[in-house]
Amino acid sequence: MSIIPYDQRDGYIWMNGGLVPWRDAKIHVLTHGLHYGSGVFEGARIYSGEVFALKQHSERLHASAKVLGFEIPYTVAQIEQACRDVIKAQGLAEGYIRPIAWRGSEEMGVAAKATKINLAVACWDWGSYFPMEERLKGIRLRFADYRRPDPMTAPCKAKATGLYMICTIEKHRSMDTGYADALMLDYRGLIAEATGANVFFVKDGKLHTPAPDCFLDGITRRTVIGLAKKRGIETVERQIQPEELAGFEQCFLTGSAAEVTPVSEIGQYRFTVGEITKTLMDDYSANARPKHAAAE
Ligand code: PMP
Repeated sequence: MSIIPYDQRDGYIWMNGGLVPWRDAKIHVLTHGLHYGSGVFEGARIYSGEVFALKQHSERLHASAKVLGFEIPYTVAQIEQACRDVIKAQGLAEGYIRPIAWRGSEEMGVAAKATKINLAVACWDWGSYFPMEERLKGIRLRFADYRRPDPMTAPCKAKATGLYMICTIEKHRSMDTGYADALMLDYRGLIAEATGANVFFVKDGKLHTPAPDCFLDGITRRTVIGLAKKRGIETVERQIQPEELAGFEQCFLTGSAAEVTPVSEIGQYRFTVGEITKTLMDDYSANARPKHAAAE
């Protein structure tokens, strides 16, 4: 499958206050965000022309920037409007949207107080995060070599660009060895999350998921906990040891891109794609779609 390079597509990208032609949305090579990881971003899905949980994503972008010590020069409402404008300009009904804020090129070096804060929003057509046929059977994960860092080591609550360095290394290691993704432990050796999604397990009719004290408490994660509750399914958020995986029946990942993706295998452990996983997969899809579209 050949992918059209992202800088060689057409349409519009919202950048620093308005829409610019897609191919003109460029930055200089001496950009602080590129050299020092001083960027924060969001990833959300577009269903029937609307972004699911747009406000929550826009608020999290602001919160992530604050953790990195900068303020985005646009309000949450302006970010939401930028998202709507770019979706309209692209005429996109189904896809993915990526708001990103970063420190510019006014200063180079670790100190960056004089840098201007930039904001861009791009959207594009993006199908299933994992191949659909693989998703329905459950994807295979390996255990990652890298661990999620101690909160004293990295700003783990921010969706910051720099935190994805170890995720890309692990994703590539997985792909190179025939796996779809990697399951990362945290700095204590407890179960944490995948490289771009949270993880849930099913046992005796209940959900078990790691307490998010050193990684992103995903918007999808919180949505799924709510959907499970509506079905009378309890979620236990706690510390989970890797050895406990032997006793879990089902497993799935959650993320804006991954949605609800069943897992069949993590290292030596095996899981079935059971009823609770399938129900939450369907509930999530139905809930993410705008209500007026679902009723059509
Ligand atoms: N963890 C990581 C590392 C992620 O990249 C994502 C995707 N943003 C998630 C968890 C899930 O977050 P959300 O459900 O908010 O997309």
